[in-house]
Amino acid sequence: MNAPVIEIRNLRKSFADLAVLKNISLSVERGTVVALIGPSGSGKSTLLRCVNLLTVPDGGEIRVGEQSLSFSGKATELPGDKVLAGFRARTGMVFQHFNLFPHMTVLQNVMEGPVTVLKKSKREAEAKARELLTKVGLAERADMFPDKMSGGQKQRVAIARALAMEPSVMLFDEATSALDPELVAEVLGVIQALAREGMTMILVTHEIAFAREVADQVVFMRDGVVVEAGPPAQVIDNPQQEATRSFLGRIL
Ligand code: ADP
Ligand code: MG
Repeated sequence: MNAPVIEIRNLRKSFADLAVLKNISLSVERGTVVALIGPSGSGKSTLLRCVNLLTVPDGGEIRVGEQSLSFSGKATELPGDKVLAGFRARTGMVFQHFNLFPHMTVLQNVMEGPVTVLKKSKREAEAKARELLTKVGLAERADMFPDKMSGGQKQRVAIARALAMEPSVMLFDEATSALDPELVAEVLGVIQALAREGMTMILVTHEIAFAREVADQVVFMRDGVVVEAGPPAQVIDNPQQEATRSFLGRIL
């Protein structure tokens, strides 16, 4: 078996009095896909944001690749900005609402991180960006601005932009939830192609049929805890917990 590329141990996060993540543990093996499912408010986005360190956990440990961080809840013991930035660069995040830079063309959006953060030459960054735009089916759209594009196209640009940072893990937070139904498939197709290439991914999704097809592991969360985790054949087709059954019954 592969060594896990992500290992999360006893992760905790509260916002004021609200405990949003209560001792979450999860490991993701290299080249596998985890689908994170659960009702709204269960802490799925917070968990992804903690893996990416957009949100700093109160307690627990996160290891991505060789680098591991532990959190004590004390502001004085938080890692410095440089450590956070290095850690963050290992994970590529794709959001529900794309979050593209509106004043930049598609090509500039994809080149920005590699040039400013990875200090790549413009030439190298552009070559890589064009390759990634080809991969997501947007080679012809390199000079467009995001506001001229459909939601599905924007999301494919966002995926190319995240990939340009050469992350070891991709995180998708409801990447298709804001799309018109006819645009969902083009984005899921790109995610599926990445899975086939062996990209390690965590997907927060309500697309249960897609999760069944693409995920190696399905994790069902509710109220800040992992209720049930396992292969899709177990968690989706034969859930052991009443909470999982009731959630799936409502959304399938
Ligand atoms: P999910 O993605 O599963 O819908 P979230 O992780 O977004 O759940 O949210 C879990 C809970 O944490 C919700 O009750 C939400 O209101 C709360 N929450 C999330 N982010 C913040 C924040 N920055 N400040 C305060 N509460 C938050
Ligand atoms: Mg969410």
